[in-house]
Amino acid sequence: MKFNPAESIQDLQYFGEFGGVNPSISDSSTYTFLSAKTMFDTFEGNADGCYLYSRHSSPSNLYLGEALAAMEGTQTANVTASGMGAITPVLVQLCRAGDHIVSSRTIYGGTYAFLKNFTPKFGIETSFVDITKLAVVEKAITKNTKVLYCESVSNPLLEVADIQGLSALAKKYKLKLVVDNTFSPLSISPAKLGANVVCHSLTKFINGSSDSVGGVVCGTQEFINDLRNVNDGASMLLGSTMDSLRAASVLKNMRTLHIRMKQHSFNAAYLADKFEKEGLKTVYPGLASHPSHKLFKSMMNKEYGFGGMLTIDVGSLEKANELMELMQHNNLGYLAVSLGFYKTLFSAPGSSTSSEIPEDEQKEMGLSDGLIRFSIGLDNNIERTYQMMKKCMIEVGVL
Ligand code: PLP
Repeated sequence: MKFNPAESIQDLQYFGEFGGVNPSISDSSTYTFLSAKTMFDTFEGNADGCYLYSRHSSPSNLYLGEALAAMEGTQTANVTASGMGAITPVLVQLCRAGDHIVSSRTIYGGTYAFLKNFTPKFGIETSFVDITKLAVVEKAITKNTKVLYCESVSNPLLEVADIQGLSALAKKYKLKLVVDNTFSPLSISPAKLGANVVCHSLTKFINGSSDSVGGVVCGTQEFINDLRNVNDGASMLLGSTMDSLRAASVLKNMRTLHIRMKQHSFNAAYLADKFEKEGLKTVYPGLASHPSHKLFKSMMNKEYGFGGMLTIDVGSLEKANELMELMQHNNLGYLAVSLGFYKTLFSAPGSSTSSEIPEDEQKEMGLSDGLIRFSIGLDNNIERTYQMMKKCMIEVGVL
């Protein structure tokens, strides 16, 4: 049977301790043991089903992790305090001093800054490459390379990674392929396409209400155990643990993810098509003009669409700012970073979420000043939204 991420989540069944339809929230940081021997065994990682301390794991975090592992089709998952709190431990767990990472050059600015400015302090070097060119990726691999890193759909340029192709390279050179799937939950299932580890910022579409920061690492039981190891596990020792109350609330929001993603995708596809027809420079993986449209199509779980993210280029930062301020004034969305909210969010990534990337490198990767990144909301009448946006665009002179 074909893998369907939303149905895998749906097939999980949870009860609270009093038969509640939601699992009980584990409001404890520490747990009692009936015998001292069991406590010792748990520290050694040999007491399945026993909880030790909530930085290690908690029932609420495990419930959410189980749902996310079901969504990605991995053995298990570890939820974290933020998306960065998921990505950074994974990379330092997989690499040590002297190791090398080959990363896409178009990734979230925080991840880019971590690899460019932070990990070199510990002797881990990264080559940033055009991830859409497998030959370029292969050429960048050295004898010290341990990890291939990319985003399925990149922030902010919406480049699409050929996950199967990258996985073949990872296998050939015995590397781990780590994929950040934040922009395309449900639509793309990287682990099913050969990724070894899949990360998300839950802050975005998965939670969907812009009220929480969170993250997850989905992978094998062995790797997640490594991350949680009390002696040398990066998640355990760096301490980016999600709080149980947050885990419970994210789990509840996840139940509507499939409905929301379909609406985000529908609305984004509608606007992208209209914007392109108006002559705006529009990037959306669902458009036939997107250089990786066919690739996305070949990888996607069709019913969830091409996602809620699109970009337009209005020529200059001044015009971008003028348009965004006017759209906000007209209640078409918010001038804000982040994504996956019910309202449309827009920002100019060059001066915000990608500002960590130096200007010359932004230019090289095609990140222009006038680029506006949209996370399209759940608007009920997207034609009405389009007409209102068009009015704003005419008013500021980009149409
Ligand atoms: N990955 C991607 C693709 C992102 O867009 C972001 C945040 O914008 C992150 C990771 C980091 O997530 P968080 O802000 O939850 O730490």
